[in-house]
Amino acid sequence: MSETATIPLPADSAESRRYNRIKRWMGVSDFALGLVFLIVLLALGWTGMLRDLAYREASQNYSLAVFLYVSMLMLISKAIGLPLDYYGFRLEHRFHLSNQRLRSWLWDELKSLLIGLVLATIVVELVYLLLRQVPQHWWLIAWAVFLGFMVLLAQLAPVLLFPIFYKFEPLENEELKRRLIVLSERAGTRVRGVYRWHLSEKSKKANAALTGLGATRRIILADTLLDNYSNDEIEAVLAHELGHHVHRHILKSIFVQAAITFFGFWLANEVLRYAVDRRHLFETMADFANLPLLILVSTILSFLLMPALNAYSRFNERQADRYCFESVASVEPFISSMNKLAEQNLAEKTPSRWVEWFFHSHPAITKRVAAAEGWARAH
Ligand SMILES: [Zn+2]
Repeated sequence: MSETATIPLPADSAESRRYNRIKRWMGVSDFALGLVFLIVLLALGWTGMLRDLAYREASQNYSLAVFLYVSMLMLISKAIGLPLDYYGFRLEHRFHLSNQRLRSWLWDELKSLLIGLVLATIVVELVYLLLRQVPQHWWLIAWAVFLGFMVLLAQLAPVLLFPIFYKFEPLENEELKRRLIVLSERAGTRVRGVYRWHLSEKSKKANAALTGLGATRRIILADTLLDNYSNDEIEAVLAHELGHHVHRHILKSIFVQAAITFFGFWLANEVLRYAVDRRHLFETMADFANLPLLILVSTILSFLLMPALNAYSRFNERQADRYCFESVASVEPFISSMNKLAEQNLAEKTPSRWVEWFFHSHPAITKRVAAAEGWARAH
């Protein structure tokens, strides 16, 4: 389609262009750094040295050695990535998008490292337990357990993980609550709750999301949005989030993830067998020095699938937008909220086609606004 060629688009500010370009480069650098780290570990045999060290420190206890190995791997990788993370922290300040103090940022970094360590330990211990006990079918069982773990995490995240970083409280605004009830009744559904998300302590950006599964399903609205947008605009955002709920996007995404991880675990098994049986890079499948190889497979796979997953996400976003157009009185508040969000978050309204195709989980703001205008014209 050549819409972009015929309709003149509002240009993004030089500031927004620069901010997003730097963010993209940071993402690419972070990915490249991780890739190089894994390749170096494998190619130079450092992973074997770390394994031997872990075994020595664990007095030859396998499970403890796995834990020590995972810890060392994560600490080293965090140390390598820290300068880039700190640059990201500075960047948000440079573009006046953050309120967060250094001490609070460091505390968040530490917390996410610890959470990452706990989650990684559970997954890796399980994978190597299966590799030892059922080497023929380990990948299939690991996949099934991983899936259950993913569902559990989706369910627990809003009540267990998010509160570690942000405060949440039930929405107080009676007018908004009334509007949400009307919206929900029209949709024939019920969301368990709407929460005020205290984002302003750390960021100047605004955001909203549908999170959780079952009893923890909820819409969260950033205070930066609640305090600066009109009720009509917030209603439009709510209706969009409700659209995700009505179209069961979280459940569908879990199914998509299930299919991808099924392929991922199968592929990991194939690669591991090749490395052990044909190339004799490791003595056994259960030699946990091969972990960087497994991570490498999943890293490359997620990189290759990123455009497809983003396209799927953009499809869902368009569906949620359409749901919003159908359920609110006018598309005007949707359009103004989109423009305000773009300004406030310094988002690119008109990213280049390939940038949107590869990096963006949401359609470009100009396209979302154009869709709203088109919908209004047609109805
Ligand atoms: Zn959305």
